[in-house]
This record gives sequence, structure tokens and C-alpha cells, in this order.
Amino acid sequence: MTSVRRAGSARDGDVAKKETEAPFLIAGGGIGGLAAARALALKGYRSIVLEQADTFGEIGAGIQLGPNVHRAFDSLQVADEMRAIAFYPQNIIMMDSLTQEEVARIELGARFEAHFGKPYGVIHRADLHKVLLEACQGMDGIALHAGTAVTGYEDDGERVTVATATNDNFTGRALIGADGLWSTIRPTIIGDGEPIVSGHIAYRAVLPTEEVPEHLRINEVILWAGPKTHLVHYPLHRGEIFNLVAVFHSDRYEEGWDQYGDTEELNQRFAGEHENVLMMLDKIETWKMWVLVDREPVKNWSRGRVTLLGDAAHPMLQYLAQGACMAIEDAVCLANKIEAGNGDFAAAFQAYQNDRYLRTARVQLMARVYGDFYHAAGVTSELRYMMLSRRTPEQAYDGVNWLYAGVDRSGAAVG
Ligand SMILES: Cc1cc2nc3c(=O)[nH]c(=O)nc-3n(C[C@H](O)[C@H](O)[C@H](O)COP(=O)(O)OP(=O)(O)OC[C@H]3O[C@@H](n4cnc5c(N)ncnc54)[C@H](O)[C@@H]3O)c2cc1C
Repeated sequence: MTSVRRAGSARDGDVAKKETEAPFLIAGGGIGGLAAARALALKGYRSIVLEQADTFGEIGAGIQLGPNVHRAFDSLQVADEMRAIAFYPQNIIMMDSLTQEEVARIELGARFEAHFGKPYGVIHRADLHKVLLEACQGMDGIALHAGTAVTGYEDDGERVTVATATNDNFTGRALIGADGLWSTIRPTIIGDGEPIVSGHIAYRAVLPTEEVPEHLRINEVILWAGPKTHLVHYPLHRGEIFNLVAVFHSDRYEEGWDQYGDTEELNQRFAGEHENVLMMLDKIETWKMWVLVDREPVKNWSRGRVTLLGDAAHPMLQYLAQGACMAIEDAVCLANKIEAGNGDFAAAFQAYQNDRYLRTARVQLMARVYGDFYHAAGVTSELRYMMLSRRTPEQAYDGVNWLYAGVDRSGAAVG
């Protein structure tokens, strides 16, 4: 087991006061787990983060950061670090990948920021994770254990003890399951079986900017929407690389992720689409493949001194680009409720899920609707054009206000 812990900087009175109390256990050191550790530490609570991978890190490619998560970054005191490394495109543009007509546009930049109070950014997943990891490493009160897969837990009403694959037991005051889509904690709390396979496959890759055809080297999030397919591309790392996500329908796969994609199948699915789409796809030799799954929303993801967070609680298709944003919002809300709960964790966890479940359910369900819209053909794609193409920037903002304005069930600002 690798243990990483650095002596930290800020120690406020609360940390000292709470130091003698048992720590929170957090299963999973991904984006949600680290955000939770950081949010708790800022309130003076100790935690132990247990991550199954041998090192704390992230794979994958780009992550879009809505204005709602920037508000949570403020709460986590990582906003400057995120701003320094994220890239800020000028527009999100949906193009019809058969006709090359512009279907919809959300203007980003100053007008967007003035409207929502925060910008819209894109970031490499590894950079987002690194900022959170360094923010955790810089604080007393967070112990990070890599190579430690959680296999189960026991809640005796006073303490929670977690068992691990390395036969180390950890005992804490409560447990937060931030262990993602294939959570080990979730089955004990909810028991709703395997995630739902959508039949949609995502291929992801990054491309050095000099290899992107010159006329497509644009500082925008471009989504090419085609029948049962779409392709998204945008620049990352101050424009040095391009992130590509190609999605298509296929019933060939049942589950699994992080496999290599089959370029031949990809070319078949996108055959007949505009040459700009095909040109981009053609540039990539090696794709990583994700089988996209989600779940029906649930109302109760806490039991006693155990709760869930992020994909473990409410996995969603990525069509609103919000899974990581929701996990980070969860973390901020959870720490607020724990602090307000004054030691009654069961009540705090209920209050947390009560604030979160309708917002996250809406994202889960609307992500499916957006997916249908992206992949429309025939009359549905005509309807999409009619509904989206004539909107003013303010009308486009109104359509996403529920999400980006970032309010919880009570109407209070999230983060
Ligand atoms: C193609 C694609 C594009 C996406 N784009 C966006 C986007 O633009 N914006 C956005 O906000 N979201 C996006 N998402 C969603 C986002 O990636 C997830 O919602 C987010 O990573 C969830 O974070 P999490 O911390 O809950 O789970 P995860 O990121 O899955 O982290 C879980 C962690 O727990 C660890 N773990 C698992 N089991 C155990 C165990 N038993 N014991 C210990 N550790 C364990 C894992 O190793 C991992 O480190 C996208 C997803 C996909 C597939």
C-alpha cells in the first residue's frame, strides 16, 4: 500500500479541535472523492481516501466545466488553479454533420460570464484531478492511500469499518462511497443491479494541434450531430492539443470501458457524413473506447453512516458534460450538511441527498434527451433545427439556466 501525505499549510482552529475525532473514510480517489476530502478538510474534518489504483491519477481526455462547477471551485478554494490550466472557448456550436448547417450556438466569453457569473471552460481530466490532488496534499487532515481497493464495510451505528483487498481495515466516523460507476458500496445501500447499457459507444482521443486540419483549428467546442452519431472536438492545454470524442450507437458491446476502439467500425458508423467530420476522424490512429451506461435516478443513496457521491450515486450519460461537475457539487453540498449536522451523520446524509437528488436526477434524465437530440435523423433533426437555430444568445442561456445557474432543490446557490 502506498501512502501519500504531505505536511500541510493552513491549519485553522477547527482542524486542531476536530483532530482527535475519527476521520471520514472516502472510498475512491477520483474527482469526486478528492473534492469531498478537500471540502471536508476546509471545514476542519479529517479524512482517509482509499483508492484502488496504484497511484492517484487520471486517464481519459477532456472535461467540460460548466459555470456551475466554477462556483464549487470557489468553495473548494481551487478556482485560480483551475483557471490557470483550463481553456476558455468562445462558443459551443452544434453543426449538422450531413449538411454542415449550423444548428445551434451558445455564445461563451464575456456575455456568457456576465449572464451566469462564471465562465465555461474545458480542461484535461488529468489536470483537473491534479489540481484537486495537490489541494488535498497541501492540507493536514487528509491521508491518501493508493493501492487500496475497498471490498466492503460494516456500520455498527457508532463507527464504520472498511475492509480492503490488501486486508487492511480502516475505521472511521462515517463512509463516503465515491467509487464511481462500478461502486462496491452502492449495492449494499441500493441494490439496483448493474448500470443500464445505453447502446452508445464513445471513442476518445487527443490530437496535437498541428495535426488538426488548419480550417478546423478553432477555439470552440464543436459538436457535429448526425444520425445515431456525433463528434465533439475542442482545444485543450492552451490550444496545444485537440480533444476528440466520437459517439455512435452499437449493440456489439455490453459493458466495460478503457478498451481500444475499432477504427473500422467507427468509419462505418460515420460513413456519408461531411468531409470535415471524416477528416477529423481520419487523423486518429488509436482510440480509447467507453461503453456508455447510466442508471435510473434514485431518491435514497444513504444508509446510516454511509452515503454515496458522484457516479456511485447518480451515473449519467455524458451528453450534458456534467458528471464530474455534479460530483464536485455533491462534495461541496455534503461538507456543508455535515458541518450543519453537528455530529448527526445519518441526518446530515439525508439532508445532503434531499438537496441533491432532484438536481442530479434532472441531469441524468435530460442527458438522455440531449443524446436523442444529438443523434436525431429525419423529422426529429428538422424539429431540432426549427427549435434551436433561431434562438438569441439570451434564449439559448434560458435553456440551460436550470443547470448552469447552479441552484439546489431549495433554490439556494450550489457551491
Ligand atoms: C466520454 C465521457 C465524457 C465525459 N465528459 C464529461 C465532461 O465533459 N464534463 C463532466 O463534468 N463530466 C464528464 N464525464 C463524466 C465524468 O467523467 C464522471 O462523471 C466523473 O469522472 C465521476 O467522478 P467520480 O469521482 O464520481 O467517479 P470516478 O471518476 O469513476 O472515480 C472513482 C474512483 O474510485 C476508484 N475506485 C473504484 N472502485 C474502488 C474501490 N472498490 N476501492 C477504492 N477505489 C475505488 C476508481 O479507481 C476511481 O479513481 C464524461 C464521461 C465520459 C465517459
